[in-house]
Parts: sequence; structure tokens; C-alpha cells
Amino acid sequence: MTDPGNGTTSEVPQISLTFDDGPDPVWTPRVLEALQRAEAQATFFVVAPLARQFPHLICDILRAGHRVEFHCTQHVQHTERTRREVEADILAGLWTLEVQGVRPHFWRPPWGVLAPFTAEVADEFGLEIVLWTEGTRDWRGDPAPEMLRRVGSQLRPGSIVLMHDGIGPGARRSGCGETVALVGGLVERIRSLGCEPGPLATTLGASFVEDTLTSNGASSE
Ligand SMILES: [Zn+2]
Repeated sequence: MTDPGNGTTSEVPQISLTFDDGPDPVWTPRVLEALQRAEAQATFFVVAPLARQFPHLICDILRAGHRVEFHCTQHVQHTERTRREVEADILAGLWTLEVQGVRPHFWRPPWGVLAPFTAEVADEFGLEIVLWTEGTRDWRGDPAPEMLRRVGSQLRPGSIVLMHDGIGPGARRSGCGETVALVGGLVERIRSLGCEPGPLATTLGASFVEDTLTSNGASSE
């Protein structure tokens, strides 16, 4: 496994903050505010139809120095789709983002579930699959202090933390307030470990996919 710190210009070890299932007109701005307060940067894995519906949020994310990457067009597990359907999903999604000036490097498939063909499809489109190492399980509606306690003890240099700035299918909460509340404490914890929170570095992906495939598998994120 490569040293995650090598992919950045900083010598400080990085921990990546990632948000899935947005942009959301209510919650994405609040997440952005929380990140701004914490002076931290993150990666947003967006759902293409939402990006098309709320293009100003994509602009806000980019203007604040965060990264926009591709989650999906339809939020369906690849194991329930054919290869051609997944290819069509990416094509439509990449076109939507391209129109907004976004060319994704990373791809986090819905639920983190990969079909046998997913890696080949990623290669076909020049995308690097990236999952996560620490799931906050914020979609369950857990209180922020509980999530911080659970995830905070697992953090290490190179960790990729999964959160949600939107309400995706399967979410058991009606809002992302606890995620917003989590950001400040999480960033504080990351810095207390001598790390810096940030978006995914483009050299990180492959090794983390190998690591996380086995540990997360078909997790319900
Ligand atoms: Zn999702």
C-alpha cells in the first residue's frame, strides 16, 4: 500500500472527508458552512440529476475549494444492473457534470457495491473507484457525539471518512443535521492526531479500493 501522504503537496498526513448523495438544497449549504468554519476541504460524490437540478450548489462546492466527483445517475446497486445499464448511467452522469465544468477522477458506486464488471467499466471511463475506510453511518440518524466517538477512535493517516450531505435511498433520517454537527468535532479530532482533513488526493484510490473491498463489502451506505 502506498503512503497516502505522498499524493499531496503537504508533508502532513491526510485524512479524507467525503460526502455522498448530494447536492441537497437544504443540507449541502450547511455542510459547506461547517467545513468553512472548520477550515477544512472535502470531496463530494454527487448524484447527477441533483447536480443538474441544483447547479448553483455545484458552483458553491467548487468555489469553496472542494472537489466534486461522481456517485451515480440512478442510485442502484451494480449487482442489480447489467453492465450496459451501468455504462449508460456513467455516460449520462459524466455528461451532466461535464456541462457544469466538472470532470471526475473518482467514482464511488451506489452503496459501495461493486459488480464483477464494475472495475472494468471504471477503466473504460478513466475513473478510479474509491470506497471508504470509516463509515460514520450517519444515514441511520445517529447523534453526532456517538458518531465521533465511534469513528474518532478508528481514524489513522490515510483514512477516508464517509458522510452524507443528502438523503439517499435507505436513509433512516429526515435531515443531515447530525452530519453538519459532526464536521467540527471530526476535524478537531483529525488535527489532534497530527493529520489534516482534506479531499481525496488523486494518487490514493487503487490501494484503498483493495483495502476497503474486503472490509466494507456490501455495506448499506
Ligand atoms: Zn449513495
